[in-house]
This record gives sequence, structure tokens and C-alpha cells, in this order.
Amino acid sequence: MSKERPETRAAQLLDEYIDSRLSGRMAPKPDEFAARCPQTEREGLMEAIYGVENVVAYHCDDHISDKLLDDTLAKISQVLVRRRLVLRINELISTEWATMSSDFVHGAEKIIATLGPASWAPSKPFLGSAVMNRGSGLTVTSKALLYTNEANLKLLESTLEKKIGETIALMDDLSAPVDLSVLAQRLCLIVQNVPLDPLDGCLITNGEAGIILLNSSVLDERRRRFTFGHEIGHAVLHSGQALYKDSSSQLDDFDAGAEMQANVFSSLLLMPSALLPSNFGATLPSLAAADELCEEYEVSLLASLRRLVRASNWGCALVVSKLGAIQWTVRSPFFQAFIPKQLHPDSLASQLFANEEWPCQSKAEWPAEMWCEGIDDESTIVEESRRVSNEYVYTLLLLVWKD
Ligand SMILES: [Zn+2]
Repeated sequence: MSKERPETRAAQLLDEYIDSRLSGRMAPKPDEFAARCPQTEREGLMEAIYGVENVVAYHCDDHISDKLLDDTLAKISQVLVRRRLVLRINELISTEWATMSSDFVHGAEKIIATLGPASWAPSKPFLGSAVMNRGSGLTVTSKALLYTNEANLKLLESTLEKKIGETIALMDDLSAPVDLSVLAQRLCLIVQNVPLDPLDGCLITNGEAGIILLNSSVLDERRRRFTFGHEIGHAVLHSGQALYKDSSSQLDDFDAGAEMQANVFSSLLLMPSALLPSNFGATLPSLAAADELCEEYEVSLLASLRRLVRASNWGCALVVSKLGAIQWTVRSPFFQAFIPKQLHPDSLASQLFANEEWPCQSKAEWPAEMWCEGIDDESTIVEESRRVSNEYVYTLLLLVWKD
């Protein structure tokens, strides 16, 4: 019986992983990937994948200036001789990495150093490394997951931003609040306000033209605008399907799939990068800042909070909870920690659910571990929570690193 050399299998898989990353497609799940490898080589492969993600993250620091991920990936493939990267990482797995400590960030920096001078010399500090060092309480699998999740989200957003760029180019005049009726006209979409309960909105299309129905009994104008943007999103992104019926379960879904895509599209369309100030990501995220965004762009609080968090250069996150349980979360690229699935009983969010006589909004600073997994230092977290209805509490988290 021939025995496969374990490092050969790990090397093949790493090759495949890097191929897939360079193709600009969604990043594969690292743990599933490693499961295809002999047990003895899994940890080494995970380290290498983590190293690759570090390399990608390093290039993605450019996102501060709205550099798109696929440009970044293209840059990597130009700048690097791909094969050399693979060989070098393999070499590190089999030799040097084995003797190194479990400080994987150090390992990733070592890869970058090894890959050599000219094209790799960073023109600015390795911000990614500074941020990544923070998550030292996480396992390597968790770190790799964190990075692939972030990379996939960034890829989706950059794809949508491109689509939105093409879409708003159809308008003669772009100003806040974005006039969706003009846009719909340009896209050959007829819009009708009709009683539509229990739906909020609906799109019927054959790909060339379509009809958007908006529920006239929804009185919240900002909610209607969000739904409008969502249906335009389906028309632009998913024209293959002829009918979309959307109620609140679709319109509140920022988690995964076509509905999430249409929601992110709507949020980006209503607050397009072209209209945001150049220092948008640098301003301190807060519920008050989100309220201002709601005013200026006539958008819902959920859409503005999501936009604020994803564009932020701060380590911040949005947590949406329903009836005492976390529904979904979205992190800024700099929030390098996991948020557990359950609310801490002492958190303001929990207390807002428990005490209806409380004011609807509250703010406090806690040890970071109350809200985060993977932070093992003295860092704190600022929690700002608002009860927006009997069912929902929105929470904005801001990590404050202690140096
Ligand atoms: Zn939908």
C-alpha cells in the first residue's frame, strides 16, 4: 500500500486554496479545507492558510482608501510569482514553522519578509499585523475563519459597489437623498404603491423591464425607501428570477444569500460612496452619527448603522437582537474578535429587554470580554444600545484597545 506523503497533500491543498483566493471567488472555509488533509498535517495547513490570509489582509489595508478587493487580488497575482509563494509557504511549514512558537502573526510576517524585498516592501506600517496581534486569544482556526469571512464580505461589497457605480451612472444628478424614482425609470422599472400586506415590497421582472410594488400601508417613509432600494437590488443583481416577494423577514436579513445581497445593495445605493465625505470611515461611530445619516439620506436606522460599521476604520460592530437573543451581527474590518451568540445578562441590551421602564437608549463601557471572544488583554468595549421596538434592540460596539 503506497503511503501518501502528508506534506504533499497539504501542499496540493494549499496550492488549491491559493488558486481559489487569486481567482477572486469566495474564500473556501479553511476548516473544511483542512479536513481534506491527513490529521498530522492539518495544523500546519491551517497555519499556512492563516499566513495566506494575513498576506491578503496586508494588501487589503488599502480598503481605507476604498481599494477594491479584486483589484487587490489582481495586484497580488501580479506582484507575486504565485508558485514561489506556494513553495515558500510549504518550505516554512516543513522546516522553520515547525520550530517556531505559536505566534502565527510572527509567522505571517516571516512569510512576507521571506518573500523578499522590492515589490513587497511595505510603503506604510503593517497595520494588519497590529490589529491581528489583538486576537491572540483566538485559535488559529478561528482566526482563519475571521479573515475568510471578512474577505468574502469585502468581495461581495466591492462587487455590489461596482454594480451601484454602473447603476447611479444612469442618473443625471446625484445628490442626497438619492432619488430612487428617477433610477427606477432609467432601469425600465414601473413603480406602484398598492396595499400589499403582509408583504412590504415585490418585484416582477422578465430581466428587461419590471414592476416594483411597494406596500402603501407602510407609513414609515424610510422603510419604504429601503424596500424600494432592495427591489432595485433584485432587478440589478438577480434578474434571472421573475418574482421576488419581500416581507420583513427578507428585509431584515443581513446574514446570507440573495436577500442579504439585495439589502446590502439597498444600503450602499441609498448612501453611495460617491456622496459620502472622504473622512467618513474616520469619524467615531455612534448612534447619534447613524441618526444624522438617517436624516441626510432618508434611510432606516438599520441601513445607516450597517453602512457606518462597514465603512469604519474603527473596531466597531453592530449587533441586532430580537426578544433577548442575538439575531445577527456585522463587524467593521478592524473588529478582529468574535461576538458570542448569546447576550451577556449584564449587557445594556439584555437590560433594555428586561426593563421596559428604562429609557430606550443607554451607553456604558465594559471589559471587552463581556461582548467578545478572543480578546485576552485589558481592552474595553463601549456599548451603546437602543430599544427600537418591543421586539428589537440595536447595539453599537466600539473596541477600545489598551496599550
Ligand atoms: Zn428580496
